[in-house]
Amino acid sequence: MEQARQMLQHHFGYDSFRTGQAQIIEQTLSGQSSLCVMPTGGGKSICYQIPALMLDGLTIVISPLISLMQDQVESLRAANIPAAYINSTLSAQEVDETMQLASGGYLKLLYIAPERLESATFLQALSQLYVPLLAVDEAHCISQWGHDFRPSYRAIQKLFTLWAQQPTVLALTATATPAVCEDIRQLLSIDEKATLITGFERENLAFTVLIGENKERYIKNYIEKNKSEVGIIYAATRKSVDALYDLLTRAGVSVAKYHAGLSENLRMAEQERFLKDEARIMIATNAFGMGIDKSNVRFVIHYQMPRNMESYYQEAGRAGRDGLPSACILLYASGDVQTQRFLIEQTRDEARIAQELEKLQTMVDYCHTEGCLQNAILTYFGEQPGAPCKRCSNCQDNREVKDVTEDAQKVLACVVRMGQKFGKTMVAQVLIGSKNQKVLEFGFSRLSTYGILKGQSSKEVSNFIEFLIAEGLLAVKHGTFPTIYVSEEGKSVLLGKRTVMRKQAVTVRLL
Ligand code: ADP
Repeated sequence: MEQARQMLQHHFGYDSFRTGQAQIIEQTLSGQSSLCVMPTGGGKSICYQIPALMLDGLTIVISPLISLMQDQVESLRAANIPAAYINSTLSAQEVDETMQLASGGYLKLLYIAPERLESATFLQALSQLYVPLLAVDEAHCISQWGHDFRPSYRAIQKLFTLWAQQPTVLALTATATPAVCEDIRQLLSIDEKATLITGFERENLAFTVLIGENKERYIKNYIEKNKSEVGIIYAATRKSVDALYDLLTRAGVSVAKYHAGLSENLRMAEQERFLKDEARIMIATNAFGMGIDKSNVRFVIHYQMPRNMESYYQEAGRAGRDGLPSACILLYASGDVQTQRFLIEQTRDEARIAQELEKLQTMVDYCHTEGCLQNAILTYFGEQPGAPCKRCSNCQDNREVKDVTEDAQKVLACVVRMGQKFGKTMVAQVLIGSKNQKVLEFGFSRLSTYGILKGQSSKEVSNFIEFLIAEGLLAVKHGTFPTIYVSEEGKSVLLGKRTVMRKQAVTVRLL
């Protein structure tokens, strides 16, 4: 390992390894295939770049994004490390030239887009090379259970029979639930013992969820109050990005924007403006960010919630890569759940839709939990939660805690009496005693639970139902439309075996 440390110093200018790096490098050098789960900015690249320098032969890196490959190769070359990439931007002649450099032993790292592996001629050329190490970046793309499945990633398995001596595999990802990890290991023949998950906790990030804010006003105020700070605002649709861009431009804020509806040239130009601090704020859809290494991002605001926790943590995690305190703020509105639902339902694959809707539900639960947000994230990613972070909006929330068991029982009983076949809006309508036509048609006005939460607004009751879902007392079934039913935990509340505590009603906080 002494030699690895010297390489770190010599080529990258760093004195010591970060958490996990030394172990992964050691395992890789000893020929053990590994899975490395490390948060964005944790320093995954060095885990395969240093072994690549130390091993004889050529290390192949599978990477899904052209821009990411180009950046990596450029910075490696700047550090005097011979590297190249092969993707769709190269001409046939350029590919040939690169392959010649590789077979002549002039390269240490070769980045390849997974689609390339679908070509038999290309595989034939690869089979002539000596490849001791195969690094699979963004390895969650190989798993159907991941949030970003790319069928072309499955072609990686063809590499396992290509050479007489199988390369050591190093799979890397920033976002993998336990199920995704299992899938990656199985598909890439990695031993369970050889998995390294480094802390997902980001001690410099303070998570906030705000429900019921006037979002535009909140964002304008926030930007006004944090005048000199760089940030990213994520929105779910191109239309929202454009609207926010216009709003902030009119307010005189220096902004850039990025979404798939803009031309490639314009996107690149906007990205550059942001990276060079010419624009202080980037407003973007989720198309923006992968592979962006901008260290001074002080805040990431989600104007609409993303479709799952993996995306959320990846996007929010772009704040504070330099380790300084930074804010991750999510502005929640229940209408945004519909937007995401609509986007998810555009896919034609039924099984996938069901799975995505479940993931969406965990995102909604995150927005309604009253426990520590950092811990909610850690739990989601299969890590043992620690002490409350004391930084997030829930930990900072000093509202009094109230026993709401009785109201919870009323809601749960109502769900049962309605046959556990309706959505939360309908349940809320019955609880507040609405004379809505549907409520009357179904004869719900005759239920003993009809109107037992009279006096509360439908919105309040809906929020309370969301809270009960987040607490795991109610569960959601995703069919043609989502319906709610009482979970096992919920039953124990109904039986009086469990109490339910809640912070007092959400008050809208203005800056
Ligand atoms: P990831 O791929 O995990 O998101 P990167 O590999 O891009 O992260 O690394 C993030 C940043 O951390 C880069 O700027 C990289 O140079 C830096 N870095 C990596 N390892 C170290 C280290 N041991 N010491 C200091 N900085 C490091």
